[in-house]
Amino acid sequence: MRIVAFERHQVGVVEGDAVYDLTPWLAPQGRHTPHAVQYLIADFENIRARYQRERDQLERYPLASIRLLPPVPAPGQILGAPTNYREHGQEMQGTVMSDANRRGTPETLGLFWKSPTSVAGPHDAVELPDLPGRRFDHEAELGVVIGREARSVDPSQALSYVFGYTCLMDLTLRMDETHKEERSWRKSYHSFTPIGPWIVTADEVPDPQVLTIQLWVNGELRQKASTAAMIVPVARLIALSSSVMPLKPGDLIATGTPAGVGPIAVGDRIRIAIEGIGEMELPVRRREW
Ligand code: MN
Repeated sequence: MRIVAFERHQVGVVEGDAVYDLTPWLAPQGRHTPHAVQYLIADFENIRARYQRERDQLERYPLASIRLLPPVPAPGQILGAPTNYREHGQEMQGTVMSDANRRGTPETLGLFWKSPTSVAGPHDAVELPDLPGRRFDHEAELGVVIGREARSVDPSQALSYVFGYTCLMDLTLRMDETHKEERSWRKSYHSFTPIGPWIVTADEVPDPQVLTIQLWVNGELRQKASTAAMIVPVARLIALSSSVMPLKPGDLIATGTPAGVGPIAVGDRIRIAIEGIGEMELPVRRREW
């Protein structure tokens, strides 16, 4: 199923050109809140079964007529995998990057945090702060949405903790000769984690390591790779993360970006597509605050 968040913190299922509004079936305290998706995830088996029986009783909207929100508007946390594709690690050599980061993988470096408030949706813009001379880069990534609490899970079981997958851009302010901000700081600007356009539930993605990821800037293909080329696969990223902290429903993992990372500027349009998941395009604007 394709799960969206939309309009007044409603949640729905996309089928063809229609969105079926599941909000009335959520626990009352979750309806029309930024955490509505977490409430959906918590009760998803019941809601999915009811959907099979009672779909036609739900309010229905044309997909093209509604404003989509980030499919997880308020994740508890966003974890990111550093240098998780060999060729991306190579292309970062010669740039300002610490020796540890250049040589490491998520196994040796661990994952990093992005602010939960950095999420943006498929109908939002990427907003660049006014930092003259600084470079901002795009990173196209497979996003993982956690489905149930995970503590020290074994990699062989880890994919059973996934609710679904989404397209994710991990936007980044690059270091330069004089600026060496923490990675989390540089990746946590408002709107620097676009996700969407929806979550495809895990039952429809039996193997997350065989998906083609592509990213274009102004129609020019910048990144194209298979998730087969990840150094540390999704299951292991979940196992690693859950060995440090409990992962909760709605938490996001950015699984790392392949080669082809490059700069973005105000006026650009960034499009991401992941095979079997979906695609979305966001404009890049100057931040107004
Ligand atoms: Mn990244």
